[in-house]
Amino acid sequence: MTAIGILGAGQLGRMLALAGYPLGLRFRFFDPASDSPAGLLAEHWACDYADTAALEQFARGMDFITYEFENVPVEATSFLERFVPVYPPPIALEKSQDRFTEKAFFCQLGIPTPKFTTDLENGEMDKIGFPAILKTRRMGYDGKGQAIVESNSDLKALLKNGNKDEFILEEFTPFERELSIIGVRSKDGEMRFYPLVENYHREGILRLSLVTGQVSSSLQKQAEAYCRTAMAALDYVGVLTIEFFEKNGSLLANEMAPRVHNSGHWTIEGAVTSQFENHLRSVSGFPVGSTQTPGACAMVNLIGSLPDVKSLLKIEGTHLHLYDKAPRPKRKIGHVTLVQKNMESLTRKLELVKEIVHVP
Ligand code: AMP
Repeated sequence: MTAIGILGAGQLGRMLALAGYPLGLRFRFFDPASDSPAGLLAEHWACDYADTAALEQFARGMDFITYEFENVPVEATSFLERFVPVYPPPIALEKSQDRFTEKAFFCQLGIPTPKFTTDLENGEMDKIGFPAILKTRRMGYDGKGQAIVESNSDLKALLKNGNKDEFILEEFTPFERELSIIGVRSKDGEMRFYPLVENYHREGILRLSLVTGQVSSSLQKQAEAYCRTAMAALDYVGVLTIEFFEKNGSLLANEMAPRVHNSGHWTIEGAVTSQFENHLRSVSGFPVGSTQTPGACAMVNLIGSLPDVKSLLKIEGTHLHLYDKAPRPKRKIGHVTLVQKNMESLTRKLELVKEIVHVP
């Protein structure tokens, strides 16, 4: 039986295990946090990523290691590679952990991005213009570590107590839509892509993902081409997500995640093969499965507090996922998925969900 070690034991790890058990896969989780959504499903090693003795022991007996959290220290994954293969390759983690390295990587591959700079002293920032967004290069997620900057004096004030080298300044992009592409690449280089997902955020946190079936095929092709280029360059194995802004009918890459992604949760019920199963298939050396979807899908995140679950489940066709996490402001504690034949019936169902869950 194939045993997979997963770094990170959050809800993504939990959904990976849920997708992997029917395939006969076994799991072991490594995550310093002692209470974790995946911990109830498999053995959980609550050790530090710097504890090399624990990492080595963790790897023993595992066939592969993967990760569900992009801020796992690259050193830990490189160390684990001495004992067992790690997928996706740690180079993908390295590129995605620093917003500057990530955007430079996109540019090197000819993937357009919003304008950006890390030179915040020599007038380079004037080329970006205002308003702009100042972001921490590392560890920012769900809108954390970001501020809108309206002027040079704003920028100076924000940088007063910080180290300039830790930030990236980006052009504020007045986008029409936010879209993400989820691709999967197998060990023998086969690639498949899910339909582009429309994403709606509030306070930097994803609230709603929609698969309408109405995104133009040229946009889909453009996104697939960018994702294909990135996966090929990294000799990638697993699921890769790239988030884009759509502006004037073109895509600008904002960031990538070398792992399964929140904007792909709808694939559990909405695609022939879910992103979780496809990630596991690819790292285990199995062929990847169909990414087709039968209709229109919506995924609504449950954030901060639990809504009235009974009312939600009364809506015919609602798929509810709870992550066994304590409610806390801005915390993702579950999601709801709707899969319908067309947009018309999806919109009707979504209206019913919106009466129970606050959706933008
Ligand atoms: P991020 O952490 O980079 O994914 O940013 C979180 C959210 O902030 C994004 O999903 C966008 O809604 C918004 N955002 C980030 N960067 C920009 C930008 N350069 N221009 C406009 N909005 C942005």
